[in-house]
Amino acid sequence: MICKHYILDGRVQGVGFRPFVHNLATQLNLAGWVQNTSGNVSVRVEGDAHVVADFERRLISDAPPQAKPSIRERWDKTVRQLKSFLIITSDSQAKTGNHNVQVPPDHYCCPDCQSELLDSANSRYDYAFINCTQCGPRYTIIDSLPYDRRNTAMADFPLCDNCAAEYQSPSNRRFHAEPLACPQCGPTLTYTSTREGIQHDAINSACEAIQKGLVIAVKGIGGFHLMCDATQTQPIEWLRNHKPRPHKPLAIMLLPEQLDEYTHATDTHRQQLTSDVRPIVLCPKKSGVALAENIAPQLQEIGIIFPYSPLHFLLMATLRRPLVVTSANISGEPVLTEATDIHNRLQHLVDGVLNHNRPIRRPADDTVMHVVVNKPHVIRVGRGIAPLELGSPYPLDKNNTLVATGAQSKNTLCLAFDQRIIVSPHIADMDSLRSHTVFEQLIQELPALYNRNTTHIAHDAHPGYATTRWSTQQSQPRFAIYHHHAHASSLYAQTSGRNLTCDQNIMVFTWDGVGLGNDSHLWGGDCLHGHPGNWQRTLYFKPFKLPGGDRAAREPWRIADSLRLHCGIKFTSDDPLLHKMWDQNVNAPLTSAVGRLLDGCAALLGICSHASYEGQAPMELAAIAEQSNTDKHIDLPIIDGQVIWFGLIKWLIRKPHETAFAARVIHNTLAHSLIRQAVATANKTGIKTVGISGGVFQNRLLVERLTTLLPQHGLTLHHPQQIPVNDGGISIGQIIEASALMHKQSSRPL
Ligand SMILES: [Zn+2]
Ligand SMILES: [Zn+2]
Repeated sequence: MICKHYILDGRVQGVGFRPFVHNLATQLNLAGWVQNTSGNVSVRVEGDAHVVADFERRLISDAPPQAKPSIRERWDKTVRQLKSFLIITSDSQAKTGNHNVQVPPDHYCCPDCQSELLDSANSRYDYAFINCTQCGPRYTIIDSLPYDRRNTAMADFPLCDNCAAEYQSPSNRRFHAEPLACPQCGPTLTYTSTREGIQHDAINSACEAIQKGLVIAVKGIGGFHLMCDATQTQPIEWLRNHKPRPHKPLAIMLLPEQLDEYTHATDTHRQQLTSDVRPIVLCPKKSGVALAENIAPQLQEIGIIFPYSPLHFLLMATLRRPLVVTSANISGEPVLTEATDIHNRLQHLVDGVLNHNRPIRRPADDTVMHVVVNKPHVIRVGRGIAPLELGSPYPLDKNNTLVATGAQSKNTLCLAFDQRIIVSPHIADMDSLRSHTVFEQLIQELPALYNRNTTHIAHDAHPGYATTRWSTQQSQPRFAIYHHHAHASSLYAQTSGRNLTCDQNIMVFTWDGVGLGNDSHLWGGDCLHGHPGNWQRTLYFKPFKLPGGDRAAREPWRIADSLRLHCGIKFTSDDPLLHKMWDQNVNAPLTSAVGRLLDGCAALLGICSHASYEGQAPMELAAIAEQSNTDKHIDLPIIDGQVIWFGLIKWLIRKPHETAFAARVIHNTLAHSLIRQAVATANKTGIKTVGISGGVFQNRLLVERLTTLLPQHGLTLHHPQQIPVNDGGISIGQIIEASALMHKQSSRPL
């Protein structure tokens, strides 16, 4: 007889791990106990040595699918002749260390719960809050760790006798399921029609409203959605006019069996859609199907999501038609989580609110993914993967905790300690009061959830960013990180894929909108080389003027005019005010940003002169380019380290071209220019690994060309899959850049 004590860490809370340990020990006739501590699990077992050895092995090999346990410590203890095996009360004060606390992501309604939900004989039939140890909300309901009901948004729902019996029964699949609920004791749904008040049957009333062509708000896991029938044009028109969101594509919810009817999805698309994350996946649109034309105007792809919360399954079981599902917010702001906010801010838009009384502690938008060269890539980190856990090649000293405040648009936050990087879900663009409120909430809560106190802050070097202003008001030492250095360094986040090592030299193309560079100019079309903490910029697109500054991003016609003026081409119809700005350099900052160059090209081709959402012009340009398969490109020479793009613009202006052909030539030209710059950099530095980072590389066509062309020149492409290539990855890059600087004795924070 021996006695062993184990401390397990990794993802062990909120994943059914304690019930699993209990069942395993009981099955092996071992006595002892299992206990949640702050983020870890403690296990004590007594029994024959060979049985305990078997137990220890199976603790890891047989763990539940969502669990990722590892044994951090094991000790021999005195045998006490314990009689049984128990799950004992959690101990948040236990001095078992807390360096590997894991906060689990929210999990979609599992197949077992789905069948109970739709089984009229089951006590949870039609119950929108069904869950078990393998599914249900986690990140969005947790107040603090250990993950026990009293530390979640379920604390105010005492279990009824039946639920309590399931909770306490080791053989039950809801044994210690913390958000456990049933119609007797759990949260309830209400549907309130704006015109007719509270309705008797919430789900059916909501479905009727959707069938009638109305837009309603539906409370979900990480916030409210706006929903309407995706086969009717009129409610979508209404939604677009009142959100307002005139052109930005909307996602639709389908049942899995409807996917082939509406899209040309491949197996890769389907695998992502049915994965545990249940993300929005951009899929190729099918034409001639019964979907309203105004869902994703001018684009070839459409965002698809399968039902994931029990409420979605119930709505779809009744409606069985595609639904528009979009975050309920004012465009650019974080998703709304309170019915009072829907009432105060979106009442002009919705005809009813399907609400419930389970609180959402913090917002989490849906995760968004797309498929490039048959591989899935995360575009937006959100519900189902957040908090996203990554490794850092630059571990921090054990007393240090670094927080990164991210970018101005597509903001995410990052927390780092030891070797760990924890990424928040997408927050929002940082231009609104509500964005600030959520940002400040999360920047306090994220370290607290992991039992850390922030000791250092990393932020963008741009003094005008809201996140920079917040950072400069804090007392901690801080690092100001240049936007494109952060883009480059984000590629060093350690994922389950092929990783870059600490101080490995690579070259990175950082192509995006604009960001502040270390020469006080606006970058965005750069080739950097080096490694975190030491980036050199040797090549970049010849800077051009942005007449109107930030306004030029929303009005690509301004960029088109500017590019023409740079080429010495004037039209009599040109805007005189813009000419004046351009000539006199008034509010016409220089930039090398490829994103803006693409904006200008799209406007020159008459595709998009005014953009209502970020990236609209390049997205529409790419969609049209898909209709041509020409290989033609224009050679862009490199002179004194600058890529000279005049040839492309002159070619676009001087000859009349078919639009799709010209759009394709633009993409081919950028791909060939990148290859040319990469070969030049490789010849000069010997570096063979080419990273890509920045919003421009969300362009599938461009990346597909690079994937084909780079290997032909003996170069390897590094294109991470698990972190967003756009500004959503900036906070990750800030962490890595600041960590690399902290490793260097000479660097001191501000
Ligand atoms: Zn379940
Ligand atoms: Zn109950």
